[in-house]
Amino acid sequence: MVIKPKIINNICLNSHPVGCAADVARQIRYVRSRGPVKNGPKNVLVIGSSTGYGLATRIAAAFGAGAKTIGVAYEKAGSEKGPGTAGFYNTIAFDQAAKKEGLFSLSFNGDAFSTEVKDQVTAAIKEHLGTVDLVIYSLASPVRTDPKTGIQYRSVLKPLGQEFTAKSIDPFKGEIKVSTVTPATDDEAAATVKVMGGEDWELWVDALENAGVLAPGFTTVAYTYIGPQVTYPFYRSGTIGKAKEHLEATAHTLSARLKKLVGGAAYVSVNKALVTRASAVIPAVSLYISLLYKVMKKEGTHEGCIEQIDRLMRTRLYSGGPVPLDGGMIRIDDWEMAPKVQSEITALWDRVDGNNLRDLCDVKGFEEDFLQLNGFGIPGVDYEAEVDEKTLEHGV
Ligand code: NAD
Repeated sequence: MVIKPKIINNICLNSHPVGCAADVARQIRYVRSRGPVKNGPKNVLVIGSSTGYGLATRIAAAFGAGAKTIGVAYEKAGSEKGPGTAGFYNTIAFDQAAKKEGLFSLSFNGDAFSTEVKDQVTAAIKEHLGTVDLVIYSLASPVRTDPKTGIQYRSVLKPLGQEFTAKSIDPFKGEIKVSTVTPATDDEAAATVKVMGGEDWELWVDALENAGVLAPGFTTVAYTYIGPQVTYPFYRSGTIGKAKEHLEATAHTLSARLKKLVGGAAYVSVNKALVTRASAVIPAVSLYISLLYKVMKKEGTHEGCIEQIDRLMRTRLYSGGPVPLDGGMIRIDDWEMAPKVQSEITALWDRVDGNNLRDLCDVKGFEEDFLQLNGFGIPGVDYEAEVDEKTLEHGV
């Protein structure tokens, strides 16, 4: 079959196996072009390893530092009927590239929130790696079943306290719109903390400790986001912000515990805002990202996932000295939050309207990144070519 992007209500519903493989290869080339990461991690577990920041971290650890990696993700497999999710094909492409390079890699496709997957992964660490020295927690999920109670929780992206009206863009129609979102209920706010807060991260550390697989000096990092005031009502002061505060507090508890146990540490890294699967439907955030891309590309400081994580590895986690912290956190969003970048965005925010949208915002860059997340629009890929059943089921 010939695969074209299927976009409904600003969500992309399919993926292209050949494009996904090409995008993984591009990220590997980038990391290689930067040379080896000196004194980098050796045995790495990435939870949420198939797309976005988690995939980039796995690539940087393996192809930059030569690490053995285990990845956990939850993806839909492809079949002769149609493509699976992008993360399914990304993972196959990663495993194949690692094998070619002689790098150990093992990938689990299952629910990272479950006790079963934690047991399988810790057993695999024992068997194949002995211990792990770096664990990355990069899950982004709308739903979590509590393994102890069996209760299922759903996260929501809503403001707290009062409704929030914000300018947004519809990148596909090239329109500015004003959206109003009603505030979350207390239950929705608590459920979002259950899904995206630090509880499951701590359960992973418990499982690794109980299995006796924490290496001396073990480090674990979870990813978070803060962003500018203009998105606060929706992000940082909203339901997801509460969950991220919980994640950040968990880092402090875990760090104290790991220091005593193995001389280790837990960090949160504040990463840059990038286009994700949900970006095009989040009010304010979509407009902010397209303005951010415009300004940072002009400044020459724009980065994607792989550039961010490569910098995280080389200049923060494995720089050879203590991990630089700002307010207790790693800030790799420093270029995004630079006062010059933010003041330009604030000025553009008030001016942007339906007539000047394509001049003031990087709508094209937003669309490109959005499609590339699912393997579409990757340079060098022939999108008119038939994709056979074998490729749909097993990747390239
Ligand atoms: P993503 O959607 O690209 O990746 C999420 C990963 O989690 C995928 O590998 C997916 O398979 C996995 N996953 C989801 N549910 C799972 C489950 N139940 N079991 C196992 N795996 C599961 O997300 P992303 O944008 O890379 O975000 C990762 C982290 O980085 C999040 O904590 C996010 O808040 C943070 N972050 C993102 C941005 C951004 O702009 N994208 C910015 C800063 C921080």
